[in-house]
Amino acid sequence: MNRQPAERCAQIGFSEIAGIRNRILELGPEARLHALHGGEPLFETPDFITEAAIRALRENRTRYAPSSGIPELRAAIVEKVRRKNRIPAEADHVVVTTGGLHGLLVALLATVNPDDDILIFSPYWTPMKDVAALAGGRLRLIPWVDARREGFRSTLERYATPHSRTLLVNTPANPTGTVLTAEELAEIAEFARERDLVVISDEAYEDVTFETPHVSIAALPGMFERTVSVFTLSKSYAMTGWRVGYVVAPEPWMSAIRKLVLNTINVVSTPMQWAAVAALTEGEAFIERARAAYRERRDRLVAGLRTLGFACEPPQGTFYAFPNVEHALGPKSWEAFDRLLKRAGVSTVPGVVFGPHGEGHLRFTFSVPLETIDAALEAIKTAL
Ligand code: PMP
Repeated sequence: MNRQPAERCAQIGFSEIAGIRNRILELGPEARLHALHGGEPLFETPDFITEAAIRALRENRTRYAPSSGIPELRAAIVEKVRRKNRIPAEADHVVVTTGGLHGLLVALLATVNPDDDILIFSPYWTPMKDVAALAGGRLRLIPWVDARREGFRSTLERYATPHSRTLLVNTPANPTGTVLTAEELAEIAEFARERDLVVISDEAYEDVTFETPHVSIAALPGMFERTVSVFTLSKSYAMTGWRVGYVVAPEPWMSAIRKLVLNTINVVSTPMQWAAVAALTEGEAFIERARAAYRERRDRLVAGLRTLGFACEPPQGTFYAFPNVEHALGPKSWEAFDRLLKRAGVSTVPGVVFGPHGEGHLRFTFSVPLETIDAALEAIKTAL
């Protein structure tokens, strides 16, 4: 019997996440853990969203939806991206996906040819490496640090290759918390236009921003036609388990993406789409409430980490702090992770999991109760 999985499976993985989980499990059930390794929103899904899903179920709105999404949701998405993101989209430019990761997968499958280089700022959200491999492309890493220090334009020029056809932009960025300014995005856009690149814009954390406002690159002059914008309801509305997102793109990308959505998932669950209509049309107050809570927790965590001697810029977005811990805990992030876990009972994510440029850092979430942040900071003192 043939027991060899297809070759593409050897190129992809989720080993690091399993590694973190296993090390936490090794501590045993009695360990009192201060868990700062997660990526979940702070609140439960708001009731008005849950009610909309229940209503859809009760009213038997449970048949196949049109493959790009129910018209009511596509209309709500168009209204939202025009108003909030200033993207000049029409209903034909929108397709509903099973969350952001699915949107990123179909975006890459639609734009990347085998052996293309995909430009991505690094450290990057880990699954991008696997999704890129699945699409047959190769990540070409551009250090965030260089881009911020030397300018985005010249750094992109330095790292781009003749095989670079696609540029991935994630703002607000996981894990660094970087929010690209309008000026930085304008530099990136200019480079993309000059090199005729397709931009895939991952805006999963668009609503979790603090001082620097979120700008969508597709809203910049000449960019709508070359940008595939990927959104998700996961973080904005505390809906990680609902699995709803959407992609906004012009032709020829949208026709390709529609085929990929149809052939990967058929169509997103109909009751979940009705819940998404409620989220997009009534969710603004929740977003504001969540943002204020995240900001308070960010300030608490960052101040505490700095007092402990970690080099930590306040993140401008997301719910992660990504301090450099080399001085306090040594250069190897897996060792730093182990030390905090074993000596302090604080779980984080080793920075190297997000690519080689994350080495020397740890990712801490502040999407937890304030008491958890305080207790974790106290416990870390004992580990230094
Ligand atoms: N992009 C980034 C940067 C993320 O951190 C996440 C989720 N952690 C996603 C996309 C995808 O989110 P989801 O699949 O839950 O919608």
